[in-house]
Amino acid sequence: MNRFADVVLPLPLYKYFTYRIPADWQQPLSPGSRVVVPFGRKKYYTAIVVRLHDVTPQGYEVKEILSLLDERPVLRRPQLQFWEWIADYYLCSVGDVYKAALPSGLKLESETTVTLNTEFEEPDDDRLKEREWMLLAALSKKPRMTVQELEKESGMHNLLPTLRLLLEREAVFVSEQIKAHYRPKTETYVRLTFAPGDEAALRHAFERVKQAKKQEVMLLSFLDLSHFMQLGKLCEVSRKSLLDRSGVSSAVLGAMVEKGLFETYKKEISRFDTATLPVGEIASLSELQQTAYRQILDSFKEHAVTLLHGVTSSGKTEIYAHLIQRVLDGGRQVLYLVPEIALTTQLTNRLRKMFGDKLVIYHSKFSDNERVEIWNTLLNDRSPRLVLGVRSSIFLPFADLGLVIVDEEHETSYKQYDPAPRYHARNAAIMLASMHGAKTLLGTATPAIETYFNARQGKYGLVELKHRFNDVELPQIIPVDVKEMRRKNRMQGNFTPELINRMQTALQEGEQVILFQNRRGFAPMVECKQCAWVPKCEHCDVSLTYHKRYNQLTCHYCGYTYEIPKVCPACGQPTIGVMGFGTERIEEDIARLFPGVPVSRMDLDTTRSRNAYEQIIDDFSKGKNKILIGTQMITKGLDFDRVSVVGILSADQMMNFPDFRAHERAFQMMEQVSGRAGRKNRNGVVVLQTSDPSSPLIQQVIAHDYEGMYNRQLAERKAFSYPPYTRLIYVYLKHRDETLLQELAVRYTTALREVFGARVLGPDNPPVARIQSLYIRKVMLKMELAASMSRVKEILRQVYENMLVDDRFKSLLLYYDVDPL
Ligand code: ADP
Ligand code: ZN
Ligand code: ZN
Repeated sequence: MNRFADVVLPLPLYKYFTYRIPADWQQPLSPGSRVVVPFGRKKYYTAIVVRLHDVTPQGYEVKEILSLLDERPVLRRPQLQFWEWIADYYLCSVGDVYKAALPSGLKLESETTVTLNTEFEEPDDDRLKEREWMLLAALSKKPRMTVQELEKESGMHNLLPTLRLLLEREAVFVSEQIKAHYRPKTETYVRLTFAPGDEAALRHAFERVKQAKKQEVMLLSFLDLSHFMQLGKLCEVSRKSLLDRSGVSSAVLGAMVEKGLFETYKKEISRFDTATLPVGEIASLSELQQTAYRQILDSFKEHAVTLLHGVTSSGKTEIYAHLIQRVLDGGRQVLYLVPEIALTTQLTNRLRKMFGDKLVIYHSKFSDNERVEIWNTLLNDRSPRLVLGVRSSIFLPFADLGLVIVDEEHETSYKQYDPAPRYHARNAAIMLASMHGAKTLLGTATPAIETYFNARQGKYGLVELKHRFNDVELPQIIPVDVKEMRRKNRMQGNFTPELINRMQTALQEGEQVILFQNRRGFAPMVECKQCAWVPKCEHCDVSLTYHKRYNQLTCHYCGYTYEIPKVCPACGQPTIGVMGFGTERIEEDIARLFPGVPVSRMDLDTTRSRNAYEQIIDDFSKGKNKILIGTQMITKGLDFDRVSVVGILSADQMMNFPDFRAHERAFQMMEQVSGRAGRKNRNGVVVLQTSDPSSPLIQQVIAHDYEGMYNRQLAERKAFSYPPYTRLIYVYLKHRDETLLQELAVRYTTALREVFGARVLGPDNPPVARIQSLYIRKVMLKMELAASMSRVKEILRQVYENMLVDDRFKSLLLYYDVDPL
């Protein structure tokens, strides 16, 4: 008999907590079930049972579990094990993972804010219990409260089980944002009270509404909506659509129900468009694609992970589709990960046509209700499904994964920066797949150096696709020397004559143009306006960042600071200035250079809402806008037909970004954005504006030479001991008091150095050295590949614990970023 349960709480605590199972409990308890437990002073949390045992904990008074929320676990094997892996690998608590993994609706706690759903109606067949009534009564006095406040207001305790019931009925929501996206789960439907073929009855019905004009309109609207005339049968119609169509009030409908002509009833609907779509055909593969497809299957026999390195527009998506089909046919599930921004109607429509209602989409902009619904869908059946989702979809309760696809695997948005868990979805997905005995396919035209390295080392399989579909050629890349153009005074704003001419021709021929301006153009840097000289750190191979507040230059890596030179050390002119031009400036230039040409701009500012991004893409696809200006957002897997010119406004800022990955990123971005040119026609060109056309990187971009870039970067990584030759861990320390922070950071770093020696760098002031009134210091740890990471992590924990002897350390916030990007 198990008397105790170890549970995980949604808190950043590094251990499990043990609670007593009430002696009189009849229900069986199993790992993965949710229970309500008290914690701290008068706080309740939804905890998840990790394991059951009979070992009485020593040294403290064991509290009892208050209630059980689920008859069946809300987690599936191996989810808990996956959480533990993430916590262990990324050096955070399982509670942090729990918080990130479960939708809010599934993890109620004392701090949860509850909002009354004013549209809620009590169902006739499933009446509210007394406790539910009491809660709703309390909420109706003040429709928005935290659970804790609600307890005071209602005078009731242990509200979480009751709240869970109310949440399921959708009588309450757990946050404002959720209410904004609310769509009901049930809808009222209307049908006629007689059989479809009964013409006499229909004639009789018309007789009965003859004297009532509005009722007649309602009846006609019904017949129209239910397609009675075409189909000759009477289907059901939703109440809402009937009222909308007829323009008649609900009282009229009520009267017709009284008369016995119509009947109404509630029906469960899905919040997702799963209206049984016919599952369509998947295009047959070209010969080259077919070969790649077979190579992938062969590679899976020997490798858990395979990289599909296929140039842009080679038809990777089509190959994925065939692989997906195969796995679904075998009765297993597929997870298809995409970067946030790629999740547009373009891709979902394509997949919807192929896989119909087997497709489940998981978007970060979904409301919590929607998330809970997807969660429950996957929890309650194990049918073969394709889940197309963003980073966090790795946490869904998959029953049996057969394949994981990570599209655009090089995308940095797969890494979560804040808050913990700071995981990389690609790498975590590989682990998840292996726990399911599934294979992982990484796809991209521009692999991350780490990934390509693994493929080259034989750790991953490698399949290459070097030609575009239909033998369309890769776009021609034309470098233009901005420095020279500037010297000759031929620039118009940010545009070279070459780019302007190409754009003019394209627009005249009815084609479209994409202009790419790196977002990091906003990162403040300093350059010589005359000769484009950029200051670099003396100790590190990176450009310096400009800090406005101190009016000085800083190196991100060693923290060394420099004065801004008065005259340029390269050309001797007093022309040093802060640079950075954004997409807005470009838009102004366009208005001047191409008056009247419809333009849209896509960047963080213009795409805040759920639909704005899609709208911009859609308008551009349909040709409403002729020029699209954007940041890296436009580089992501979009497929347009009529783009013949792509302009890269400045390659320099990307290349000079102070980061050891700058060149890799710059290549990826330029290659990807070039990939948007000439996908369907042969004459795509890319105008690449740079002040250094002869630099190796620019030459590699011109030649579409990924290998060349890879080899050169790899040599540098080796020389400077960066990944993939080392593993990085950043340790962040935060505190309100900067002086104290600095002192403690130095002490901490010294302690780390005693163990790790020169592998420890810092403490450093990160470029954003204060966030939310907390000052930040960063320590970098560079470990050789051979080092045992579990040992390293153990030492990190040990060092931290030792520091805690000093009380002041307890007020310090410390966290890790493993494999930072
Ligand atoms: P990638 O993902 O490699 O950039 P896509 O899968 O988007 O490439 O394919 C590029 C274009 O070529 C798309 O419009 C796609 O519909 C088309 N295409 C690719 N393969 C096929 C095929 N086998 N049959 C028909 N169209 C294809
Ligand atoms: Zn430096
Ligand atoms: Zn100069």
